[in-house]
Amino acid sequence: MLSNIRIVLVQTFHPGNIGATARAMKTMGLSELILVNPRAFPDEEATRMAAGATDVLEHARCVNSLEEAVSDCVQVVGASARLRSLPLPHFDEPDDMAQQVIENAAQAPVALVFGRERSGLTNDEIRCCTHQVSIPANPEYGILNLSQAVQILAYEVHRAWRRRDDSHFMYQRPLEATPPSREQFVHFQDHLGRLMQQSGFLTQPHARTEEQLQALFSRAQPSRKELSLLRGLLSAFESHLPDSREV
Ligand code: SAH
Repeated sequence: MLSNIRIVLVQTFHPGNIGATARAMKTMGLSELILVNPRAFPDEEATRMAAGATDVLEHARCVNSLEEAVSDCVQVVGASARLRSLPLPHFDEPDDMAQQVIENAAQAPVALVFGRERSGLTNDEIRCCTHQVSIPANPEYGILNLSQAVQILAYEVHRAWRRRDDSHFMYQRPLEATPPSREQFVHFQDHLGRLMQQSGFLTQPHARTEEQLQALFSRAQPSRKELSLLRGLLSAFESHLPDSREV
């Protein structure tokens, strides 16, 4: 179950933070580290800060985009000190997040995503997430060091895992009731976007209509079954468009 939980660091600037993250992860039983375009890796400072967790570093994967890091995940939680304008479901308490993550990780990969030291996560990156979480802290200075933020969320995940009710997990949700992977969700959003264009529903290219509808579907958190019903509905509409094959 813990092996289904990955920690994703986006464009980390200081390699020492990557090492300290590996150590924070290992102390809490996590081993899957993905680095999206790190500035310097592998690096001596990372190895030094990892101390006894160099195995986590050696096993870490580097990728070029957040999308690539999370496309097979059914839940992607972006850690952010600040509330953004994007209306994603938000966990105000890390322990609530951890319980849900543990439940999902019993069946499929999930990710916790951390941003750059200076600028956090971009809006586009937050759009790759299904949820956001904040670590409640001093309102006057609530921004933690990157690896310390990882430590706190990893601790909560480990705590939820220790306290899990195994009898609950004996009952496996049917596959169709599980959340879709990010890849399946992106396909749905592309399909929706395409149909909005083809049907003439989108008239002004710069209006935020598409974004607002996508946010609505993200918030609704449809199951795989529900998403495939929606895809069927879109295909039915599509087949009635006069020039649907040409666009
Ligand atoms: N100046 C950046 C801070 C980045 S700190 C900003 O305003 O977003 C580096 C990363 O650590 C953040 O992107 C976030 O993933 C994590 N982090 C730091 N403090 C946090 C907090 N209080 N709650 C959740 N995540 C936090």
